Amino acid sequence: MAVIGWIGLGRMGGPMTKNLIAAGHTVNGFDVVPAAVEAAAGHGVVAKSSIAEAVEGADIVFSMLPKGEHAKTVYLGEGGVFDNASTSTLLVDSSTIDFDTATELHQAARDRGFKFVDGPVSGGVSGAAAGTLTFMLGGDDVDVENAKTFIEPMAGNIFHAGGEGAGQAAKIVNNMLLAISLQGVVEGAVLAQRFGLKPEVFYDIAKVSSGDSWPLRTWYPVPGVVDTAAANNNFEAGFSTMLMHKDVGLALDGAKTQGVTLSAAELVYSRLQQLIDDGNGDLDCSAIIGLVDENAEGLPQD
Ligand code: NAD
Repeated sequence: MAVIGWIGLGRMGGPMTKNLIAAGHTVNGFDVVPAAVEAAAGHGVVAKSSIAEAVEGADIVFSMLPKGEHAKTVYLGEGGVFDNASTSTLLVDSSTIDFDTATELHQAARDRGFKFVDGPVSGGVSGAAAGTLTFMLGGDDVDVENAKTFIEPMAGNIFHAGGEGAGQAAKIVNNMLLAISLQGVVEGAVLAQRFGLKPEVFYDIAKVSSGDSWPLRTWYPVPGVVDTAAANNNFEAGFSTMLMHKDVGLALDGAKTQGVTLSAAELVYSRLQQLIDDGNGDLDCSAIIGLVDENAEGLPQD
């Protein structure tokens, strides 16, 4: 069984390490927040107090951090992974970060003789706990194949998306599509109701018609229509507005570098920003319906 170094034991990293331990691996974990390390130690992570300690003797190191800036600190910073890991250790960054930082980290790893894979995930905290995450991997064929064997206990699906940064590219574009579809669904749900359609009747029609989409089927933003919708739960976050805002922002950052105008992504980004400015960043992103109809059913009232 392998020795795995893990950096970033938050909402995702915590439960992901649990599945690696259940598969028989040793996980040496570090987080800048001691309480996160302590919580992970509760399910068997070996608590380490620095990156240097966490990567020592590891076959593979995973990082699961908030943003590109954190990934840069962890890999490139003083006392970071590149300063301390052995070049025989495979490195996988599973954080969702911007494309430019991901390719920069690949380049920096290559310059120092490391093998590096970008490997963001989809499936949320519940997928992390269930070991059913979708991994999107970017990098060299051999490195990706090697990474897959360690990833399996955490994953339902593993894709080799392509070369350096391809995992992040796939993740960013997927979530941008989700956000744009969601904006369509909330506007559709409000207009359908104003026309006098019963939500459950319109939902049944749209789901087998050309208006169908993943957020329609999974997050229909009216209580009592779809079991998995946050609307049933006063829009308590399944996927928070903050996280969706971050992900659409990554798409817009990438679009700028690539010289593309994404008008629908810009629109939904501004709607998500509005929700955050209104103090609702912790609500589920489908609470965006409140900007179409402030009296939408299920919204928390202040
Ligand atoms: P989180 O904020 O709960 O966890 C991140 C952890 O990284 C924190 O515990 C933080 O203390 C730690 N950290 C930050 N800087 C560090 C450093 N320099 N050294 C060591 N540890 C450091 O975030 P999360 O929800 O676990 O998400 C992690 C990543 O996964 C993000 O990029 C997010 O976009 C992505 N993601 C999250 C979800 C979700 O539903 N939460 C779903 C898919 C992808």
